[in-house]
Amino acid sequence: LQAEAHSQRHEPATTLDGHTLEVCANLGNTAHTPDAVERGADGIGLLRTEFIFMAHPEAPDLATQEREYRHAFDALNGLPLVARTLDVGGDKPLDYWPLPQEDNPFLGLRGIRLSLTRPEILETQVRALLRAAGDRPLRLMFPMVKDLDEFRAAKAIVQRVQDEIGAPDLQIGVMIEVPSSALLAPTLAPEVDFFSVGTNDLTQYTLAIDRGHGQLSAESDALHPAVLRLIQMTVAAAHAHGRWVGVCGELASDPLAIPVLLGLEVDELSVTSRRVPLVKACIRKLSLETARTQAALALSKATAVEVRDALEAS
Ligand code: PEP
Ligand code: MG
Repeated sequence: LQAEAHSQRHEPATTLDGHTLEVCANLGNTAHTPDAVERGADGIGLLRTEFIFMAHPEAPDLATQEREYRHAFDALNGLPLVARTLDVGGDKPLDYWPLPQEDNPFLGLRGIRLSLTRPEILETQVRALLRAAGDRPLRLMFPMVKDLDEFRAAKAIVQRVQDEIGAPDLQIGVMIEVPSSALLAPTLAPEVDFFSVGTNDLTQYTLAIDRGHGQLSAESDALHPAVLRLIQMTVAAAHAHGRWVGVCGELASDPLAIPVLLGLEVDELSVTSRRVPLVKACIRKLSLETARTQAALALSKATAVEVRDALEAS
């Protein structure tokens, strides 16, 4: 499979029965964009922009950010780039942005909540992204959104910058990383252009297990039926409104999970660049019909262990 995956990496990921998924790359450094393209990525499905901020001793200014984002667009040759706005707080500290002491930083000021307390930082970032993109396909998404209020507040900032610089229309989406946003997907779907499921945080917040917890790591499994049900709800709401859904957490490159995600009718998977060829090859061996059966099987189980056992046995 390795050799075949490599030789067909630039082909689309189309199932035996003709259903195509986009397979994109997750990046934290825009200098790695040519590598992602070389490995066959259909685009960048998650640019973790906080890594660009972490790589600088102080907040990168407009010109610095614009230059970094431009590298990505130049290397992508028209392929889409999904940029996540700054996602700090919780497990992602930024030295020059001191945060208040909190008893539970994972349940505190982080992700979009934090950005909304410093709108000028978000504005500069959005301005840099829009300028770097020009008329190339930029998609923007916000991390850790819990409901429509946060999405509307963040989107208003983007629209202000768009109007100011006369930027073309772009897709604006939310990450589904908090159970409330999956449960409320039917209320979000009419106003967003897409969803991207961050299964790392979604699993953490659904199972109430710290994603970095050593002792509990075996139990922190994104193939948990509770997480799968939230993904199912998200896709149903999105497709009812003609929106697309991606999965950009680790689950997207788990070989046992790929048929399940395909069967749940996710539209895009975004994975570490080096896994792109194998994920594509894995999809080519499946049919949507058998994947639907796998998804139904997984959803019928009560625990993550049961899900894994059933998928391995099938
Ligand atoms: C996630 O939470 O699944 C995700 C993709 O975001 P990050 O891993 O950067 O928190
Ligand atoms: Mg996350």
